[in-house]
Amino acid sequence: MIQQPNIPIKSRIAPTPSGFLHLGNAVNFLLIYLLVDLNKGNLLLRIDDIDMDRVREDYVSDIFDQLKWLGITWNFGPQHIKEFPDYSQHKRLQRYSCALETLWQAGQLFVCNCSRKQLQHSDAHSCPHHITNYNKTDGLRLKSPYPIQSWYDYYLEEVINLHKSDQLFEPIIWRKHVALPSYQLACVVDDIEDDINLIIRGYDLLRATECQFFLAEKLEYSEYKYIKFLHHHLITDEYGNKLSKSAGSTSLKQYRLNNSISDFYRYFSRWAKLPNAAEINDLSELKHVFQLHYSDFRFT
Ligand SMILES: [Zn+2]
Repeated sequence: MIQQPNIPIKSRIAPTPSGFLHLGNAVNFLLIYLLVDLNKGNLLLRIDDIDMDRVREDYVSDIFDQLKWLGITWNFGPQHIKEFPDYSQHKRLQRYSCALETLWQAGQLFVCNCSRKQLQHSDAHSCPHHITNYNKTDGLRLKSPYPIQSWYDYYLEEVINLHKSDQLFEPIIWRKHVALPSYQLACVVDDIEDDINLIIRGYDLLRATECQFFLAEKLEYSEYKYIKFLHHHLITDEYGNKLSKSAGSTSLKQYRLNNSISDFYRYFSRWAKLPNAAEINDLSELKHVFQLHYSDFRFT
């Protein structure tokens, strides 16, 4: 395993304000917070607002409300909704454009302005790979398949080596019409820009991580290989589906109507397989049990 000595852990909580936060988000954020706390590291709040059309002010204020309720504190990024515009991803457009150009020059992208409907009929999507220039309003995709990326996952405790058939197929890198980076591109650029060295995300993002590893390699982000990854299991609804904001899953807002913060800490403790979950009442008790049970996750 590659170790980068003497550098404090820095992780990030990266919500997208496209809906009210749900229990799955809360579990993820609390796990990040506790692992950063365990490592005496730094924590950044990075609100993913690149997709402006979906951002609503009440969703942004919900992020601050829920983090406060969860007892989560952070030392980088906006502390209050008023500071949020100063940290907008739209201030980084120049960096995303540069990264786009690097990927284009490396021959990894192709122009595709197909609609979602056209993509479903793959014969309609036959965008050539040899067009030699692009406009900012073109959609750009990553040529696939790309070389398989592998990395050690600290949560799953194994080397991740996804099967080629599981790879994201021609993921969008630059979004047509709006001239904005996709999640994949913005995320990898931001993580390097923000000096992140610990990423904790759900198991559903394994394939996104693989794509971002490949982008980082092509962008010559040598620091990326020092990032420690943890892909945790997800909480699911009563039908076994993962929770999502767009599907209107139980919001944290709603959960709070019938549950106290102690209820949530116990819920989290059961999810994190902590012993004596039923006896945990507050954050200091949770931290105590977490530190004992997760001592293997001390990275520094
Ligand atoms: Zn196409």
